[in-house]
Amino acid sequence: MTEGPENDSLADAVRCPICKRVSAPIHPENRAAIWDYGRVFENYSCANCELIFCHPMPSDDEIRDIYTKRYDYEWFRRRALLKRAQAIHRFQRLQQLWGEFGGDGRPRFIDIGCGHGWLVGCAQNAGWISTGIDFLDDDQVRLARCKGLDLRDSSIERFVAPSEGYEFASMWHSLEHTSDPRRILKAVGNLLGVNGLAVIAVPNRNAAGLAKAGSKWGWFQKPFIHPWCFSVRALKQLLPDNLRLELVSSRDTWDQQWVQYSSVFQGTDSLMKWVFRWVCGALRRVGLNRMAGLADAGHFVLREGLLVMTYLGYLIVRRTPWIRDGYERQCRASELLIVARRV
Ligand SMILES: [Zn+2]
Repeated sequence: MTEGPENDSLADAVRCPICKRVSAPIHPENRAAIWDYGRVFENYSCANCELIFCHPMPSDDEIRDIYTKRYDYEWFRRRALLKRAQAIHRFQRLQQLWGEFGGDGRPRFIDIGCGHGWLVGCAQNAGWISTGIDFLDDDQVRLARCKGLDLRDSSIERFVAPSEGYEFASMWHSLEHTSDPRRILKAVGNLLGVNGLAVIAVPNRNAAGLAKAGSKWGWFQKPFIHPWCFSVRALKQLLPDNLRLELVSSRDTWDQQWVQYSSVFQGTDSLMKWVFRWVCGALRRVGLNRMAGLADAGHFVLREGLLVMTYLGYLIVRRTPWIRDGYERQCRASELLIVARRV
């Protein structure tokens, strides 16, 4: 065994939280501090399990503070209509998976990281006994009360499940926001009754969009917002002993898809941005502020419309061998989805 600086540097090295291999910094341009907290967070990548993770890891208190006090929900507010459509689509996938994995009737269902509760609402409308948990702000509490939804302000570990457990749990894009996904997945298993099913969807570390756009990929985010970007290999290693893996799949979503990182889309997008910026600027200069506001809204609708159209195109062609075998089966689509069963 050699002594000296080499060993010291290995001891100081940042190790992958899953497999403990020495990991390397990635995308240094994405380094960021949590507002005025002072600590600086960076992305690291593990070559062994293909995991991207944040170092240092934000604490549970920091994470709760971010989402209850500091996170800007404007992006979601502007797209409330699309988020509702997305909830309907997600619920259809849940119904399909519930049937495919032998589920019978209407399950006792919990959505972990439920946000505004759109998905809980869909499940409730279909007659499922539905609960959602999240760190809720006043807006969400008001909305839940008004819609008669059972949303609880709680972390998963403090939440007390009914004694018989849930039959079906979903977690859409919330695991990557947590500080300790292994602990969270264990808690998901504990909420389920025996044979209960969990559906967990996260951004995909091996997505074609990430390979193409790097840290500009929409789901890369600041390191403390998405402390994790999971690969299939990493997710498999994270599964606790109370959950057994049943399915791994990969699909694009309306808001993250390979098309939007193609040169054609990027070129059209840049041109549109330039034209609308010029038009809005010109209108404001001559005092037509209302018209400028309308033009701005028009740009937003056109761009989101373009995304939705390309996504609908993807849904149509996704059964072709090129997408199905060459893209989704190789798990290169933007979203990874796993189904696991409580054992
Ligand atoms: Zn690793």
